[in-house]
Amino acid sequence: MRNDLFFYNTLNKVKEKFTPLDEKQIKMYVCGPTVYDDPHIGNARPLVVFDLLFRLLKKKFGNNKVTYVRNITDIDDKIIDRANELNIPIDDLTQRVTKNFLADCKYLNCLDPSLQPKATEHIKEMISIIEKLINKNFAYEKEKHVYFAVDKFSDYGKLSNKKIDELSSGARIEVSELKKNPLDFVLWKPSKNKEPSWDSPWGKGRPGWHIECSAMSEKYLGKNFDIHGGGLDLIFPHHENEIAQSQCANNIKFFSKFWMHNGFVTIKDKKMAKSEGNFISINQLKKKYNGQVVRLALLSSHYRQPLNWSDDLLNNSKNILDSWYAHYEIDFDEPKEDEILSLYDDLNTPDLISKIHDFAKKANKGDSNSKKKLNSVLKFIGLFSEDLKKYLVFKESSSTISKEEVEELIQKRNLARKNNDFKKADQIRKKLESKGIELKDLKETTSWHYK
Ligand SMILES: [Zn+2]
Repeated sequence: MRNDLFFYNTLNKVKEKFTPLDEKQIKMYVCGPTVYDDPHIGNARPLVVFDLLFRLLKKKFGNNKVTYVRNITDIDDKIIDRANELNIPIDDLTQRVTKNFLADCKYLNCLDPSLQPKATEHIKEMISIIEKLINKNFAYEKEKHVYFAVDKFSDYGKLSNKKIDELSSGARIEVSELKKNPLDFVLWKPSKNKEPSWDSPWGKGRPGWHIECSAMSEKYLGKNFDIHGGGLDLIFPHHENEIAQSQCANNIKFFSKFWMHNGFVTIKDKKMAKSEGNFISINQLKKKYNGQVVRLALLSSHYRQPLNWSDDLLNNSKNILDSWYAHYEIDFDEPKEDEILSLYDDLNTPDLISKIHDFAKKANKGDSNSKKKLNSVLKFIGLFSEDLKKYLVFKESSSTISKEEVEELIQKRNLARKNNDFKKADQIRKKLESKGIELKDLKETTSWHYK
């Protein structure tokens, strides 16, 4: 049928028709951030890609019919290392980074997922899965560590399309003498001094990273669900291990029906990553670009392709958005299905964007129907999220005015007020306002801030 959804399924390496397990309740799980440092553009891509998918599923199956779970990993080696480096309590770090992460999601105009569970609030569920795995002989304990035995799971390597013996030689694997097979991965380990720890049948300790997602997805979505998403780099070992844990613990043939992965963000053709030191944090972009510009830039390439990040890409996106905003309307309709069919074909955003360009061309010639379509499609994909006035204010304020210039204008304005030249004082206030500066007159002085 024409209006079916098709997504590329990493599990079967092919684009497949998407049929939900239950039409009344579509279930999607996406691996969320490990909150050890502020998100960068590489981290922003899955946020926006799976937000778009969430919007599309809601549109197709009904607004209240989709449950989207995105976890927050708030216990992990990286977090402990970073807190030690900064010499601050772990909770302070995870709370600050979580807060910044959520602010970044808002900046990118992502809808809130249905649920955002935190790993540290689900230790009980993790322990229970680990116990099941030990009882069923898929996991073993050694000196207070618990490992998953990959040899026991015949499908291991299916998602990443690798054979166990190839993996042993090629991948980066944590070396430990306690493991029976070097590929065995940790489910539970003892905590060192001062590290966060929880009581368990294997002594005080903390969970491995992979078990967190198996526990949280099962708790909120059940043993099987429709879509599991994340970045390409999570396929191995993280997602491979999630599958092994969940299928073995629950004795099920499949865990998630679809596995969808977004490609990397690159800078000069090199993957953007904290470890590479070539990352741009979302926060760095906030002063200069409206969040919609960043969102459009992130959607400009197909989600499975690499996205090469550059100033040109951002400036180009800004110019496009500026030109589209000439057609902004407050009232808008939901887009018709045939206006967003590009998305039905594995979220083909480049194709959709070229269609929006066509609408804009026709709207430029005065075609009001195309103008309507442009508005409804842009609002659907999370753009046109501010009205024209707000968008323009940001444009002005991003045109930068230095603190010195602001102070100088305030002095001039105070002098004008002193001389009862209120007209001039008002002009200066308006000028500053147009640059995104808000004034507050106090008894003796005038304070100001960026809006
Ligand atoms: Zn995960």
